[in-house]
Amino acid sequence: MIQIHDKHFDIFIDQETLEARIAKLAEQIDHDYAGRCPLLIAVLNGSFLFVAELMKNIRIDCEITFIRLNSYEGTGTTGKVKQILGLSEEISGRDVVIIEDIVDTGHTMAELLGQVTAKKPRSIEIATMLHKPEATRIPVTLKYVGFAIENKFVLGYGLDYDGLGRNLPCIYQLAE
Ligand code: 5GP
Repeated sequence: MIQIHDKHFDIFIDQETLEARIAKLAEQIDHDYAGRCPLLIAVLNGSFLFVAELMKNIRIDCEITFIRLNSYEGTGTTGKVKQILGLSEEISGRDVVIIEDIVDTGHTMAELLGQVTAKKPRSIEIATMLHKPEATRIPVTLKYVGFAIENKFVLGYGLDYDGLGRNLPCIYQLAE
């Protein structure tokens, strides 16, 4: 058990299991995108370790770019709106794979998909290290999922709790 800020966490997915699964996802991508040079669009900050491990295991030609989402309160009833920052690459005609750390409610991914689709890629798919199916409210098609997990807070391998924990080499779950 480890402590980060005020909370305790137990190990949930060890590094070996996690990285073996990520290598499998890379194999699937090699197969699905043979001869197509996909553009990986990794969502910062949380996906940086996942995408590094994934890309190291991809054997076909591929490219990478990084984006951030800024979150601000929209006016009136629109609520939270997320805007993509840093997407300077030409997307039109590309085979895009969006790389996320975790899909929870699905709001972030739905918003992202809408904005990237508007740039007319040839194809667009999602790879996420973790998915919480029970928490997902907006259905999004997740082609590459590392692990489907229960609806509990996790950290490590890029995911943080209030800024800390991103450097942990495996996934930890909030202790009971
Ligand atoms: P969604 O829009 O799908 O609800 O949320 C996605 C974002 O919420 C993720 O990219 C991540 O930043 C954050 N998030 C959701 N669940 C967790 C979790 O269990 N742990 C951490 N560290 N972040 C999470």
